[in-house]
Amino acid sequence: MNTKAFLGINPEELASCVACGLCLPHCPTFRVTGEEWASPRGRISAMRQIQDHGAAIDSAFLSSMDTCVQCRGCEPACPSGVPFGSMMEATQAELARRRRGDWQRWGFRVLGHRWLLNLLSRMLAVAQRLRLVPSKRLGLPKIPLAQKRLRASGDDLWLFTGCVMDAWQRSTHAAVKRVVEAAGARVALPGAGAACCGALSLHAGLEGHARALASRTMKTLEGSAPILVDSAGCGAALKEYGKHLGTPEAKAFSERVLDVHEWLAAHADRLPPAGEQDQDVTIAVHDPCHLRHVQRAHQPVAEVLARYATVVALDDDGLCCGAGGAYAAMQPDLAASIRERKLEAIERSGADIVASANPGCTIHLANAGVAVRHPLEIVDEVMDHDR
Ligand code: SF4
Ligand code: SF4
Repeated sequence: MNTKAFLGINPEELASCVACGLCLPHCPTFRVTGEEWASPRGRISAMRQIQDHGAAIDSAFLSSMDTCVQCRGCEPACPSGVPFGSMMEATQAELARRRRGDWQRWGFRVLGHRWLLNLLSRMLAVAQRLRLVPSKRLGLPKIPLAQKRLRASGDDLWLFTGCVMDAWQRSTHAAVKRVVEAAGARVALPGAGAACCGALSLHAGLEGHARALASRTMKTLEGSAPILVDSAGCGAALKEYGKHLGTPEAKAFSERVLDVHEWLAAHADRLPPAGEQDQDVTIAVHDPCHLRHVQRAHQPVAEVLARYATVVALDDDGLCCGAGGAYAAMQPDLAASIRERKLEAIERSGADIVASANPGCTIHLANAGVAVRHPLEIVDEVMDHDR
C-alpha cells in the first residue's frame, strides 16, 4: 500500500493538537518503545502528513497506526481536548477500505451472528480439549464446552450481553444478573438482534458494519428502561452511539446506557451486606481503559467492591494493560510488553486478586498468570443472598 489518501478526519480536530507532548507519558506504546511514531503526538503528525500534505500511505504509517491500542489514555491527559479516538477511527476506516479482502477484518463479521459465534466457540472448545489449538500462544482462555442459558426475570432494566463475552464468559453475566437482582431489580435480556455492540468492528475500521450492528442493537433494546453493561468496551461503544450515528434516537439510546457499577453505586442502599465468610482478601482494581478514559466512570467499581472486600488502587495512573480488544492477538509482542508494566504495578499493590470490568483485560491478564475476576463475580460470591 503506497498511495496518496485523504483520511476523512475532521480538519478542526486534526488541527487541534499543539504538539505539547503532555499526553506522551499516558501512552502505553510510547512508554514501552520511547519512539515518537508510537506516541499520540507522532501519530497525529503522521495523519497530518497524509491528509494535509498529500504524503503517501507507507509501511511506516501503517505501523504507527496499527500499533495504537486505541485505549484513548491520551484523551483525558490532553489540555487541548484533542479527540484522538475519533481521528483514529476515521484513519482506520480509510485503511480498512484499502485493505478490502483482509481476512482479519472480515473475521469481525462473525461477531454479529450469535448462532455462528456460539457454534465456532464450541468447536474451538473441543479443539482445545484435543490440544489442537496453541491457546497460550494465541492468548485464548479456556472456552467452555457448554453454558447455562440465562433467563430474564422481568423488565425493570436491560442487561446487555454482547458477543464474545456471552459466548465465552456467560457465567460472568449470570453473576452480574444475581447481584443486580439482589438490589431489587428485575432483569430483561436482549435477543439475537443485540448480538454485538460493534466496538471491535469500529476499531478495525469497518464503519458500515459497526453502524449496522448499532442500529440492530438499538431496535432490540427497545423502550425506556436503563441499559446496564458489564463489559467496559461494550459500554463505551453503546454510550457513543449518539456521537457515531448522530440521530436523536441514537442520542436518546446512549443516555439510557450505564456501566453496571454506576447503577449499583447509585442504588447501594439496596445491596445486601457481605455474608459471614472470611473477607480477609485484598483486591486490586484494574481500570479498563474504556471505563476510565472513555466512559470516565471507573470510580463506582471500587465503591461497590469496597462494601465487600479490602480494595487497593494500582499506582500506575490507569495505564493500559495492552489487551485492547483484538490488539493482544494482532500485536502480541507489544501487548505483552505493555502488560509487563501492569504486572509490576499489581506486584507492588500486594493484592491477592485483581478485579477488572472488561473481558479482554481479564483474559489478557490471566494469560500472564494473574488471578483476575470480574468485580461482580467477587461481589456475588461474598454477598449474603439470603438477606
Ligand atoms: S494530543 Fe494533546 S497532549 Fe498530546 S501533543 Fe497534542 S495537544 Fe499535546
Ligand atoms: S489511543 Fe492509547 S495507544 Fe493510541 S496514541 Fe492514544 S494513548 Fe497511545
